[in-house]
Amino acid sequence: MKHSPDDQKLERMLRSSKLVADGFMGTDGRGVREIIEADAATLANLGVTAEQTAGRMRELTLAARPALGNWIEAEGKYRLRSEEHKGSLVCPWPHAGRYEKRLTTCRRLDSGEDIVWTDLNIHLIEAHGFFEGKGSYFRLEPDVLVRILFA
Ligand SMILES: [Zn+2]
Repeated sequence: MKHSPDDQKLERMLRSSKLVADGFMGTDGRGVREIIEADAATLANLGVTAEQTAGRMRELTLAARPALGNWIEAEGKYRLRSEEHKGSLVCPWPHAGRYEKRLTTCRRLDSGEDIVWTDLNIHLIEAHGFFEGKGSYFRLEPDVLVRILFA
């Protein structure tokens, strides 16, 4: 695949530790477009869009926020906790946007399975279809997200 200079710049930013420790790509050797396309295909197979996925994440984050870092139960099937940390995260795509450093943990009561995301994850999925590279700290597997958020 041919890469534009903009893609190369983005790729460098995603792999650097400037914005987030260890970068957004983890140990993934694939290019950013390839990662986005593969995850989009996974979601399409499951019949869910990136916007719907991000929408569910935002909904659960908003439900957990008022509890200020304490666990709450939601929808009869989740334990949720949303913790705020000092500072903010910046989107690696070249546009203005800062995201509060908030970690939301979502645990299924039935399976015990849990996932953790940041507000930046929600933005990256919604606006860029980007779930981060394999091996990165906040990589979210689309099929796991769908299983936890929509089942
Ligand atoms: Zn962005």
